[in-house]
Amino acid sequence: MLFKILISTLSLIELKLTSILKLKIRKKKLTEGKPNWYPMWKELGLDIEKHDLLMGALPQIYKKIYIDAQQNRPEGMGFFEFVVSDIHGIRVSELKKAKEKGKKVISTFCLYVPEEIIVALDAICIGLCGGTDFSNFASEALLPTNTCALIKSSLGFGLGNICPYFESSDLIVGETTCDGKKKCWEILSKHKPVYVLETPQCKDRPQSRVHFISELKALIIKLEEITGNKLSVDNLKAAMEKIKKKRTQIKRVYNTRKTDYVPISGKDALLVSQVAFYDDPDRQIQMVGQLADELEQRVKEGIGVTEKGAKRILVSGTPMAIPNWKIHHLVETKGAVIVAEETCTGTRYFESDYEIIGESLDELIQAIADRYLEINCACFTPNEGRKEDILRQVKEYKVDGVILYTLSFCQPYDIEAIGLEKELKKSGIPVISINTDYSSDDDGQLNTRIEAFLEML
Ligand code: SF4
Ligand code: SF4
Repeated sequence: MLFKILISTLSLIELKLTSILKLKIRKKKLTEGKPNWYPMWKELGLDIEKHDLLMGALPQIYKKIYIDAQQNRPEGMGFFEFVVSDIHGIRVSELKKAKEKGKKVISTFCLYVPEEIIVALDAICIGLCGGTDFSNFASEALLPTNTCALIKSSLGFGLGNICPYFESSDLIVGETTCDGKKKCWEILSKHKPVYVLETPQCKDRPQSRVHFISELKALIIKLEEITGNKLSVDNLKAAMEKIKKKRTQIKRVYNTRKTDYVPISGKDALLVSQVAFYDDPDRQIQMVGQLADELEQRVKEGIGVTEKGAKRILVSGTPMAIPNWKIHHLVETKGAVIVAEETCTGTRYFESDYEIIGESLDELIQAIADRYLEINCACFTPNEGRKEDILRQVKEYKVDGVILYTLSFCQPYDIEAIGLEKELKKSGIPVISINTDYSSDDDGQLNTRIEAFLEML
């Protein structure tokens, strides 16, 4: 099928959607027709040689996983395909233009850093990624071997001069979720401006809420200093509205995955979530909204991406940053379909919500804190809510089997996986636990295990 790309014409000067451009992607190479971004990359101080290697590999991986291995994709995926095809180009040039006008770029690594506060202060929030081991050359001498792939990769991108988003960042906001990340910030802060938000460990306690609110207020002071802007009830309410709308559009996409004929593959839905972390929120509201319209129409017409009866899989565990599409690819090339991700690049991003009520900053900040404290990450203790989320989603998404996905050496998710596996089995839900990294070394073994799991469903 020919994919059409709906591009916000990136009036790269005005950074607005000014027209719609349709491209037939499948007949083009992913890198074809791009502006010359080399001057911008050089200005940002990228290691051009290594960066070329990275950019050279990505289109082939994308083509193999997304284009060659899928059929009947929604046309609305064209936009996301375009974004990935120019991943270090247009969006980075938007950041550059915005910075020239005085805007600041604030980067994050975790859902617990509230993007609405960053947006309210008229800064740009970028979720930095670390989904490939390509960048490990810059971090491996600084980290023990038994560090999770996400940290190795992220730190590598931070130090290896191959990520234009890192190089565009005026401030990187880390958090105290897992131990590996805490130590990672210490290393990174020797090279980049880093601020650490202290997230609570026992988030259900009232004193944790008080502490998290005071941490958010300290973050606001830091961000006000960096941006030169002041948080107000009006700008915070407007930003909360905007981010809420963005989350609502992603939720609409996920809701369509609950139907019998799933109108979008797990791979494509994952890509939508991944892009949401670094694209412009207004454009996301529009483009994810258009995709959701199309998917809802597909549901009405009974158009799916798989045969009816395809096994429906829920993936639960550690986040999957671009270009970590490994498990989705292994599962969906075997005729099954992933219908939801209970991960931070999935339902954890949009499920908890807030009412935007209150006439003071204090009330709004409390609403934000409460919304974030509802996210059930394995870094917290206790974390019973995650088990409840999985059991609920198994029903909502009519799941046939669960894959508990853990990045190797991630202790919080690894330990939780053992207990969750027992609980799911007790409830009669087929489950498999997968512990892996970004390499393809275990593809053969995973293929066999996933195939056997799907056959058993
Ligand atoms: S898994 Fe936990 S630490 Fe990682 S991004 Fe999600 S909330 Fe943050
Ligand atoms: S995957 Fe686990 S170890 Fe790695 S950054 Fe996330 S919580 Fe920490």
